Amino acid sequence: MKKVVFSILILTWSAFFLVSCQNKPQKTQIKYAFLFIGDGMGQAQINIAQAYEMAINKKIAFKHLTFTQFPSTGWVTTYANNRFITGSAAAGTALATGHKTNIGRISMDPDGTAPFESIAEWAKKQGLKTGIITSVSIDHATPAVFYAHQPSRGNYFEIGLDLAASDIDFFGGGGFVIPMKVINGDTIRIIKRAIENGFAFVNTLEGFKALKPGTGKVLAIAPRLAADAAMPYMIDGNEGNPSLADFTQKAIDLLQDGSGFFMMVEGGKIDWAGHGNDAATNIMEMLAFDEAIAVAKAFYDQHPNETIIVVTADHETGGLALGNGGMQYELNVAVLANQHISSEGFDMKLAEFSRQLSGDKGKDFADMLILFGQEFGLGDSTKISLTSSELTQLQHVFNQNMYIGAGEKPDASGSSYKHITSFLIKLMSNKAGLGWTSYSHTGINVPVYAIGPGSEMFNGMIDNTDIPKNLETLLMVQE
Ligand SMILES: [Zn+2]
Repeated sequence: MKKVVFSILILTWSAFFLVSCQNKPQKTQIKYAFLFIGDGMGQAQINIAQAYEMAINKKIAFKHLTFTQFPSTGWVTTYANNRFITGSAAAGTALATGHKTNIGRISMDPDGTAPFESIAEWAKKQGLKTGIITSVSIDHATPAVFYAHQPSRGNYFEIGLDLAASDIDFFGGGGFVIPMKVINGDTIRIIKRAIENGFAFVNTLEGFKALKPGTGKVLAIAPRLAADAAMPYMIDGNEGNPSLADFTQKAIDLLQDGSGFFMMVEGGKIDWAGHGNDAATNIMEMLAFDEAIAVAKAFYDQHPNETIIVVTADHETGGLALGNGGMQYELNVAVLANQHISSEGFDMKLAEFSRQLSGDKGKDFADMLILFGQEFGLGDSTKISLTSSELTQLQHVFNQNMYIGAGEKPDASGSSYKHITSFLIKLMSNKAGLGWTSYSHTGINVPVYAIGPGSEMFNGMIDNTDIPKNLETLLMVQE
């Protein structure tokens, strides 16, 4: 009898629960969404950063990054509409809009005629605040797909105009590739346009620090920019600039007004270092990206029931592997700690060097070796010793590329002496036990890591188009 009463109670309760569920769909409480995109960040880029941290700290215990400890993990397919190996524009469009498109499109359909709405634009309509942050130029493909609609990622000026006209609440990071253009005799400046459209513009550290909640829309550009209007590589030093983590913290401080927010943060130079097969530079970019994620994680810890953080990549760059034919089972990433400059930075040193050549190849090479020792630890017996065959190869590469013809100096573009940098960078990876298959992107799946209510939606095999769809589902305010 007791059993029967109990069963009836259970049934009644279940029926009531079902009805109440149907009438009132489970209300999601997500108010804050972070999407971190490591441009060119495959699993190997994550693993060398971990192996490096273990090696320099002389630890055997596995070293996690902040985001590799997130409870939900999955794999993301990245192929574009018209090419298996994707690019940042098509992959970014998928991550921003939930639609596949052709290579080069910025949140437009494959024909480049109709726009796709981005999650940032959607979030704005939902009453959320929005932030877009990157370590490369703010008009670069990955940030652009969240606020611009252009048939080509090369339309930097038009992307900049889309930025100026947008309703994004916070832009932070690098500058503009094409900041102004003269059209029919009129000089059009993107920053001026943005200010006219209500953006507060800062490009000094003091101005950045002084930004307070209530400022309204903000366009914050790093004071010190490197090539292509990007923030400098971390390995070259980011003094005088906010870091990616500082930009993330500032965006949190400014956007946290109770309405909720969607924020995209890109580690853009992981990709650039990958294109250069520059492992040490790659690792430093990875660690800076993780520091920015740690800022979001600290925010999550304060708001665990209302925050989701998703970390993924648009594609892998370089075909990086841990392990190479020469080193076999030996991984020696600690040697990379001897590298103090990016390949971009070293190219500049070589340009300087080429202007001061004495004409005596033997003497010039000896001077060059000193520079190799200072910047890479190469040839310094306490750091990385060179075999006699490596030394011969280096001298050959030096003579071939620093002297063109009989004692002539290389051309100013550096197209010649950049081969010396490439050779050095490759040598560093070889000695670290790393391998690279490409100077371009690769077509492998990229990982996704997530934490927060609903993060299990990112478990298992998903497509890059699922990421914004899942985030929108989680952010959707249901009646
Ligand atoms: Zn790339």
